[in-house]
Amino acid sequence: MRFLVLSDIHANSTALEASLAAAEGRWERALCLGDVVDYGPDPNEVTERVKALAPIIIRGNHDKVVTELADIEDFNPLAQIAARWTRDHLRSDNFTYIAQLPEGPAHTDGLTMVHGAYHDEDEYVFAPAQAMDGLLESPSAVTFFGHTHYQGGFSYRDGQIRVIHLPPEPGPKFAALRLEPATRYLLNPGSIGQPRDGDPRAAFAIADLDHQVIEFWRVPYDIAAVQERMQSAGLPLPLIERLAAGR
Ligand code: ZN
Repeated sequence: MRFLVLSDIHANSTALEASLAAAEGRWERALCLGDVVDYGPDPNEVTERVKALAPIIIRGNHDKVVTELADIEDFNPLAQIAARWTRDHLRSDNFTYIAQLPEGPAHTDGLTMVHGAYHDEDEYVFAPAQAMDGLLESPSAVTFFGHTHYQGGFSYRDGQIRVIHLPPEPGPKFAALRLEPATRYLLNPGSIGQPRDGDPRAAFAIADLDHQVIEFWRVPYDIAAVQERMQSAGLPLPLIERLAAGR
């Protein structure tokens, strides 16, 4: 089975469409690690597109705040503005879909999915020490996580943890990770709609478990078009500018 692994789409339909076009014909089942909405200008378009992909999906922290399942006061002031805007613009059927997304972990066909850390969907996993729980306690050799908007991850074998960072070359390109026997992986496909690892291209992964290969993809998209829609919507300037920086 080849899985398309999407995370942190954040209401950016231009980045999502460019990613789906690049991935066309290369996957059979979609997975989504949460944060479908918030920050971006297209919460309804993105929610409808995700629904149509019929993915195995879990919720993210922004999905919770937008649908009032978590306290908006936990967000910084700019994120609060974006979350209120998203609440006000998400149609009720889409609101209902986002509100019913299940909490991770979710398990399928030898893979595990979480939004943040293995035991806490709101925790960030940036450093190897933060990755240990997921690497050791997940029932699957391969676990996907999101939340940080950094593509890459960690592997663990014989007491040794390694950082995985495979930046794809310019263009719509992927870098391939070959899975090794007796090794455990905690992998982040990166963010479709708001990358923060310094590469502004949309990020996702394709997991081919039959051939034990993970493809880490980066796809350029029309960032200026998204920024214009954010401007028209009155979303905060720093959120508009960070798309071009990928930070
Ligand atoms: Zn996110």
